[in-house]
Amino acid sequence: MTYWTNGCEPVTYLLTGDWSTSSVGGVALLLLSRDGMDSKILIVEDEQSIVDMLRKGLEPEGFQVIAAYNGQTGLRAVTEARPDLLILDLTLPELDGFELCRRIRRQPETARLPILVLSGRAEEVDKVVMLELGADDYVTKPFSPKELVARVKTLLRRVSTPALPQVLRVGTLEVDLDRYTVVVAGQPTSLTAKEFELLKALLEARERTLNRSFLLERVWEYGEELEIETRTVDVHIRSLRKKLGCEGARIITVRNVGYRLDTTSPHMNPAP
Ligand code: CA
Repeated sequence: MTYWTNGCEPVTYLLTGDWSTSSVGGVALLLLSRDGMDSKILIVEDEQSIVDMLRKGLEPEGFQVIAAYNGQTGLRAVTEARPDLLILDLTLPELDGFELCRRIRRQPETARLPILVLSGRAEEVDKVVMLELGADDYVTKPFSPKELVARVKTLLRRVSTPALPQVLRVGTLEVDLDRYTVVVAGQPTSLTAKEFELLKALLEARERTLNRSFLLERVWEYGEELEIETRTVDVHIRSLRKKLGCEGARIITVRNVGYRLDTTSPHMNPAP
């Protein structure tokens, strides 16, 4: 067990995991987990019993588990420990889960960190807000540790599938699927992970109209059993259009159905 400290502050979060430590000639060796998962999971949660329960589920599967017990140390752990996935509680001391999520998505180096929200707040409004902030999944307490581990694996599989090194171009819009960058008329524009996935889906559809439930399933990967409001798609499309500037007008609303991307117009007029 390795303790992380910050100057003279008391220990605020700790690093544990499927590690065994042995000492050879005074040199400590860390032997990493056996089944090759090796992914580092950061849990930001102020309830020790929940952290323990998560650890019990994750460690036998070969995950390294790091825990932070308040929002501030959680944010620090995200940038310093570079986890592969974040399990985030919403009600936290110092900095709540909403704000933490917002800040993570704002920083380019952490913007694509998969975030699974684990919260006792089951109200729909929280779910919608979280999805709009760019969380990837949402589990309400009480939860089944088995299901949670399965969701963690699914999320990690999603992000580890390498994208084809490919640049899609329409008009002055350039989308690099490998580097996750978007350029409009020579100017880089920064999209959230969900906005990027939406744009990618629309580009790959080549003029086909995509309905909202397809987009929810494709971008958010939610099946019909989870009633995420399709309004979430509209909110993201609105923001995406704005960020794409003059090229935003390529995203056409198909009334009562969904959206398609106009790839035929050579150039777009600036939005009024
Ligand atoms: Ca809490």
